[in-house]
Amino acid sequence: MPVFTLIFIAALFVATATRLWLARRQLRHVRAHRDAVPRDFAEHIALDSHQKAADYTCAKTRLDIVHVILDAILLLIFTLGGGIQALADLWQGLLGVGVWRGVALIASVLVISGLLELPLSLYRTFVIYARFNFNKMTLGLFLADLVKQLLIGAMLGIPLLLGVLWLMERMGPNWWLYAWLAWMSFNLLILLLYPTVIAPIFNKFTPLQDQALATRIETLLQKCGFKSQGLFVMDGSRRTSHGNAYFSGLGASKRIVFFDTLLSRLNHDEIEAVLAHELGHFKRHHVLKRIAAMFALSLAGLWLLGWLMPQPWFYEGLGVSTRSTATALLLFLLVSPVFTFLFHPLSSLLSRKHEFEADRYAAENASAEQLIHALVKLYNDNAATLTPDPLHSLFYDSHPAASQRVAHLRALMTHI
Ligand SMILES: [Zn+2]
Repeated sequence: MPVFTLIFIAALFVATATRLWLARRQLRHVRAHRDAVPRDFAEHIALDSHQKAADYTCAKTRLDIVHVILDAILLLIFTLGGGIQALADLWQGLLGVGVWRGVALIASVLVISGLLELPLSLYRTFVIYARFNFNKMTLGLFLADLVKQLLIGAMLGIPLLLGVLWLMERMGPNWWLYAWLAWMSFNLLILLLYPTVIAPIFNKFTPLQDQALATRIETLLQKCGFKSQGLFVMDGSRRTSHGNAYFSGLGASKRIVFFDTLLSRLNHDEIEAVLAHELGHFKRHHVLKRIAAMFALSLAGLWLLGWLMPQPWFYEGLGVSTRSTATALLLFLLVSPVFTFLFHPLSSLLSRKHEFEADRYAAENASAEQLIHALVKLYNDNAATLTPDPLHSLFYDSHPAASQRVAHLRALMTHI
C-alpha cells in the first residue's frame, strides 16, 4: 500500500475519531447538567426551557454523529473506493478531453454528495426543528430553496470552475498565483452582490418601519462613525423562529439586516446593544481580518496544490489513476479538510476572541446590561445550551459559552 494512502487513512481516522469523541462528550455533559439551570441564569431561564435546550442540543449532536460517519464513508468511497476514478472514466468517455470534462467531474461529485446528504438535511428541518417548534418551513419552500441554490451554485460555480481549470492548464508552473487572483476577485464579487442580488432571491427585505427604533439606531451609527446603506428587516420567520441580526456587504453596499423574529422579541434597548456588538466587529476590523486570513490561507492552499499536482504519489495514494488538473483540484478539495481539521480550535479561538472584543465595544457604546438581557432571551428562544462540554466548545464554538460571555459582560459593567 502506498505510504500516502496510509497517511491519509491515519489522518481520516484521527479526524473522525476526534469528532465522534467530542460529540459523545457533548452528549454526556449536556445530559449530566440537564436537571439544573446554572446559577447565573436561574432567575431568567425556567427549568423546562433549560431541559428543552438540552434535548435540542442532544438531538442535533446525534445527527452530527451520523453526519461525521457518512462523511468519512463517502470520502473513502470517492477516493480509495474508486468513485472519482469511475466518474473520471465516465466523463472522459462522454466528453473526451478538455476543460468541460473536468467541470463535469467536479460538479457530479458535488451533486452526488449533496444528494446523499439531503436526507440528513430533511431530517434536521422536518424532524428535529419541527419537534422543538423552530421549523416554519414547508416542504415546498424547502424544495424551492434547494432548486434556487442549485441554479445559483451552477451559475456562479461553473464559470469559476471553468476559469480556474483553464488557468491551471494554461498558465504554467505559476498557475496558482493566477488562480488565486481569480478566486479573490470571485469572492469580492460575491461579497458585493450578496446583499442586493443574492439574499433577496431567498428572502424579502423591507426598510425598517419602526421610526423610534430607526432614529435610535441612526444615533448609535453616528456616534460610532459608521455609514450604511440602510436598515432592513428580513422575513426570517418564513423558515425558522431563531432570531438574528447581521451586516452584509462591503464598503458602500453595506446593509444592516434584522430578522423580524429578533425585532419581535427584543426591546429597543436590547436591539441597540445587539447592534453595537455587530458594529464592534466592524470597528475592531474583525471582518477585514477574516477576509485577509481567508485570502492568505487560500494562497497557501493553492501554492500547495501547485506543488502536489505534478506528484504521482498524490493521485495514486488517493486511489486515482487519471492525472489531470480536475482530479488534482477535486482530491485537494475533498481531502484537505481531513488534514486541516486539527487547526479548527485555532480558528474557533480567534473567533471567540473577536466576540469578546465586540462585546466590550457594545459595553462601551451601548450597554453591557442590555446586551446580557438580549443574550439571555436569545439563548432561551433559540434553545442554545448553557452547559456545553468545555472541550467540545473549545474545539468548535465560534462564540464563547453563555456563562463565560455573561461573566465577561458583568465584569465590564463594573469597570466602565
Ligand atoms: Zn459577534
